[in-house]
Amino acid sequence: MTTLAPPGLPAFLAAVAARIGREHVLASAETLAAYGEHTLPGGDTPPSAVLHPGSTDEVQAIVRLANTHRVPLYPISTGQNIGLGTRAPVRAGQVIVELGRRMNRIVEVNETFGYCVVEPGVTFQALYDELVRRGNRLMVSVTGGPPLGSVLGNALDKGGGSGAAGDHFGSVCGMEIVLGSGEIIRTGDGSLDTPEPVNWHVSKYSFGPALDGLFTQSNYGIVTRAGVWLQPRPPAIGSFAFTFPDDDDLADIIELVRPLRVSNFVPTQIRVTNDLYMLSPQETHPEYAATGGKAALSDAARKAMQARHGLGAWTVSGALYGASAEALAPGLERLKAHFGRHGKARHIPPEQAAAMKPLHVALATHSGVPGAGELTMLRWRPGGGAIWFTPGTPMSGAIAGELSRACRAICAAHGLEYMVSNVCGPRFARGVHAIIYNRQDADESRRADACYRAMAQAFAGKGIFVGRAPTAYQGFHHAQRMPAFIRACEAIKAALDPNGVIAPGKYGIE
Ligand code: ADP
Repeated sequence: MTTLAPPGLPAFLAAVAARIGREHVLASAETLAAYGEHTLPGGDTPPSAVLHPGSTDEVQAIVRLANTHRVPLYPISTGQNIGLGTRAPVRAGQVIVELGRRMNRIVEVNETFGYCVVEPGVTFQALYDELVRRGNRLMVSVTGGPPLGSVLGNALDKGGGSGAAGDHFGSVCGMEIVLGSGEIIRTGDGSLDTPEPVNWHVSKYSFGPALDGLFTQSNYGIVTRAGVWLQPRPPAIGSFAFTFPDDDDLADIIELVRPLRVSNFVPTQIRVTNDLYMLSPQETHPEYAATGGKAALSDAARKAMQARHGLGAWTVSGALYGASAEALAPGLERLKAHFGRHGKARHIPPEQAAAMKPLHVALATHSGVPGAGELTMLRWRPGGGAIWFTPGTPMSGAIAGELSRACRAICAAHGLEYMVSNVCGPRFARGVHAIIYNRQDADESRRADACYRAMAQAFAGKGIFVGRAPTAYQGFHHAQRMPAFIRACEAIKAALDPNGVIAPGKYGIE
């Protein structure tokens, strides 16, 4: 394993240790190996050190020293980016700046206006616990991922949750950032040159350009705190679930879901999740030993799994929010009539859904309760490999159906299972695909890599790009962009990080 340490590293680490304390600079072989681990094809990418700053001032000092010694940094919050690179740097040898370890304060919870201000180490679980402690009046939008993921880190990588604040980057209001140059800026209304900007976390933009977008999925700076809008917890949450029997029902389902979202009759994202995305966290691949993992699960075994769990090919879930269970009842009846018109939909009554383990993740996310449900899908095949592939489609049944058929065929051709959860908004559905494979097996890793690229090419050929991208594929996707866009990214990089010290190569930007 090579660590590719930059030449200026020893002098840099000595200077950083003098500034932030030797105990906050880690460089043992064991630590570097552990931080380099991820679930993607290709080798691990170990950093050449790990730093734990305790304040914005210390982050600024680290960035300035990185400029002096020309050492590339890789900022992470809590590093729970599993399936997308975990906490490993985009390139081996970059120095991880792990903000979450010591910068983990909930700086403010404002119950009047419904927002909080968090440092990078505040996890979904910690924020949830704090809101419960304060009387549970506000609700955090959680993901289906790890409860120990960072609220800020997830927002910066454009993660998604549920409810009114389910667009996590869209819910950020006002950030503090240490630019690659070492300068500190506040975005939005925080840019007024005063020690206490009043509207920083309540108004996203007033005067001048809105710079916040530059710091999502990029490498122009290190975000040291942010305001995040929170939804008041509704007195009653009415979750609903419907299941459909056949793979080809997807097109009809998307047509049924669109009017519910575009009218905001259903205020949560509606998840349209396929059998194996929902069931793989519950079981291990029943045919793996017999096929040596070389073939996708047979349709017969898949149907048997559906029957074991009482779910069909697609399961639709979401929630209504309201003043009381009585107030929600007519809306839930309307949903039953709406899906019932299709003829093949089966309603899963709430009492039954609550007892069905595969539905717990959907129910918990709509209720703003963190839970680790989905990640056990990494045990579906041995060897711990996982790649998340995140294209999307317009909320058009014809387009979603066609691409779903194409991806199912591509997965099968590579001997892998097709797993997807379509997270439906009013106009657009993000297709969160999981490629689960044996990372210890060279042939299976090669097939997983080829499968990712083939699906990405199929979507790009139809004019469709991805959302979040695993570190190993960020360069590949950046190269799919129009050349003028790439040049614009490079120009911004040169302006904000002239020595290129923040994560060169991240999201393809050098
Ligand atoms: P999470 O644990 O919530 O998944 P990570 O810490 O793994 O979040 O970060 C997700 C992505 O966002 C990574 O690409 C990381 O480099 C980037 N990132 C996280 N926190 C920051 C930050 N404070 N400043 C800049 N980039 C960040």
